[in-house]
Amino acid sequence: MRIIFFGPPGAGKGTQAKLLSSYLDIPHLSTGEVLRSKLNEKDELSNKLKHVMTSGNLVSDEILNKIVSITLLTDNCKKGFILDGYPRTIVQSEYLNSFIDKQDMIVNKIINIDLDDKNIENRITLRSRTENRTDDSLEVIRTRIIKYNNETKPIVQFYKSKYPLIFFELNGDQKIEKIHSEIINIVKKC
Ligand code: AMP
Repeated sequence: MRIIFFGPPGAGKGTQAKLLSSYLDIPHLSTGEVLRSKLNEKDELSNKLKHVMTSGNLVSDEILNKIVSITLLTDNCKKGFILDGYPRTIVQSEYLNSFIDKQDMIVNKIINIDLDDKNIENRITLRSRTENRTDDSLEVIRTRIIKYNNETKPIVQFYKSKYPLIFFELNGDQKIEKIHSEIINIVKKC
């Protein structure tokens, strides 16, 4: 099964993608996690990434498209995958669409976990205390919300109108277990 998760920062898509990944036994590709792991490499690229990510801005489409296409072609992703944090821009979604067509793949579900801006700020403030993420300060989170609203939300709307039968919207302001069980019901639907 191939699934794309959407949702603003802090909506819980990473948590839900992880839970679903173990439930379905398919890999979870979080582009944010891949990029954070690259930061430890301490080379020229990691310095550039650090600068972009700690300011709440988006890393270049070119880098992201490369990471995703390389990963999706690995044997690990043969029986399916969960994309979390990608695509985030129009360029990325166009790239993904043509990649998927070329590979004769089908996306089975698109799940959008929604959360309003105030709730996002509150959750991220809490997360910054527990996870110590450098991109979780209030100022940075506001930039990330703006980026999400300007760059990613239009794509979510595009997918919603283009693929209404496989598009599902969930309220992110609920308990983790409740959202997980709603997602299980979605993936059980053929
Ligand atoms: P996330 O963990 O998904 O919230 O991502 C953390 C940060 O990684 C984002 O604020 C961006 O700087 C960068 N990032 C992750 N995924 C993407 C993407 N698809 N396009 C551009 N930047 C990304």
